[in-house]
Amino acid sequence: MRIERFYHHAGTITPEGESVCPDCGVKLDDGLLSPNPCKYDTTSFVRYKGLWWFINVSNCRAQLCAAENITGKIRYKEIVCPKDMQDTLQKLVEESVEEHGALNISGLYGPSDRLISFIEEKGIKAVTAKTPDRANKP
Ligand SMILES: [Zn+2]
Repeated sequence: MRIERFYHHAGTITPEGESVCPDCGVKLDDGLLSPNPCKYDTTSFVRYKGLWWFINVSNCRAQLCAAENITGKIRYKEIVCPKDMQDTLQKLVEESVEEHGALNISGLYGPSDRLISFIEEKGIKAVTAKTPDRANKP
């Protein structure tokens, strides 16, 4: 399975109507993303199995998220992880956060390569949630 990682950048629109990052100059897509990292440490999103994977930290709690889209109204999926792997999954999620920030700094974080390998290896899935929206949107 090919895993792609996209980095979030600050965006400005050029007179030609293109989005570029004012910090590093890369061209961006509509979601202000680029496969190239910015010169600053910004959130990365992993594209895996047709979904966007990222981590949402709020109230000192890190949660792995998968969504169909990351612009506009976000449609979250429900992560399906076997019970005996949930602790390891959560540990890897928290490690990913600590690589770039801390659990007490709310925001979006990119999943580490180790976390994505674990998801891939263990076949952890994201399915359409029964409830259309979660309460804690980023
Ligand atoms: Zn940039």
